[in-house]
Amino acid sequence: MMTNDIKILVIDPLDDEFFNILNGKAIIIKAYDCHQNLIELVRDVTVIVTRSSHKIDKAVIDNAKNLKIIARAGVGLDNIEVDYAVRHGITVISTPDASTRAVAELTIGFIIALARQMSSFDRFMHDGEWCKNSKFGVELVGKTLGIIGLGRIGSQVAKLARTFRMRVIAYDPYISPMKAEKLRVELKKNLDDLLIESDFVSVHASLTSETRGLIGEREFRLMKSTAFLINTARGAIIDENALIKALKEKWIAGAALDVYAEEPLPREHPLRKMENTILTPHIGGSTVEAQKKIARILAMKIMKTLEKLERVG
Ligand code: NAD
Repeated sequence: MMTNDIKILVIDPLDDEFFNILNGKAIIIKAYDCHQNLIELVRDVTVIVTRSSHKIDKAVIDNAKNLKIIARAGVGLDNIEVDYAVRHGITVISTPDASTRAVAELTIGFIIALARQMSSFDRFMHDGEWCKNSKFGVELVGKTLGIIGLGRIGSQVAKLARTFRMRVIAYDPYISPMKAEKLRVELKKNLDDLLIESDFVSVHASLTSETRGLIGEREFRLMKSTAFLINTARGAIIDENALIKALKEKWIAGAALDVYAEEPLPREHPLRKMENTILTPHIGGSTVEAQKKIARILAMKIMKTLEKLERVG
């Protein structure tokens, strides 16, 4: 049972559904964008609710003496010291499935926008021009989509891409060949083969010490000069300097990015100046549907975990 002794600190905005479900069951403290004084705020809270913009590091965990749960609204726990938290008896929960469809749909949107050079035509039109025959796009039928990381989102992207009759290949050393077979995806044994064969390379791996900087200069040089890169996973998986070089020197045809090594992307970042790129500000999970799902699932998980902790403790 929850009581008013339970303090839930929410440090990033959430859909109202979260507050409606927990209303009256705990004291809820909203403190958005509290990067500077987070350490102070966590002192007596039972639950910290965060997205990806705040770091829940060792210092924060050490200072939160009553902390029982770190709740991540979304997927990807790379901003949380998970092992350290678990060793201190703290439960870490997240909503891994809630934004899968939203991110997969954004990825497909990027693929189509890149194939049809929508961003440059859009820019021409806004500049008062009508450059109808200045360039031609490509169709997706028969093109090869290379998916790096065939997890929840990667699998959903594979299913959607097949409806466009694309050939889908993937590189993911941690999934079974059976899973790929079921999805009718050709699993590659190494990343190089995927990069060499793909017309579109889409990154859906989790950020780990192994995937940090996975795509660098060497990898961009392996890609076709007509190929596009899409990254809706985590910025640090791509070496951004290498990407800028690859775009400038036309080793690849273009890129679409939703995530960056540093977020928010600095105002003067060279990526903002690149012509053949589409940039969005980490909006993969930003749909009305996904936000409601995240809020509902997270609130229910917090209640269940607190009840369980009370039963055992
Ligand atoms: P997931 O855990 O289901 O899938 C990740 C996959 O990456 C797994 O199958 C894993 O085996 C694979 N992988 C791990 N190491 C790899 C390596 N070295 N090479 C290739 N594959 C490797 O995660 P998910 O829910 O599908 O999320 C995928 C990515 O999308 C994550 O990075 C997540 O943080 C990100 N994400 C972004 C947004 C956004 O708003 N843009 C929203 C949700 C998730």
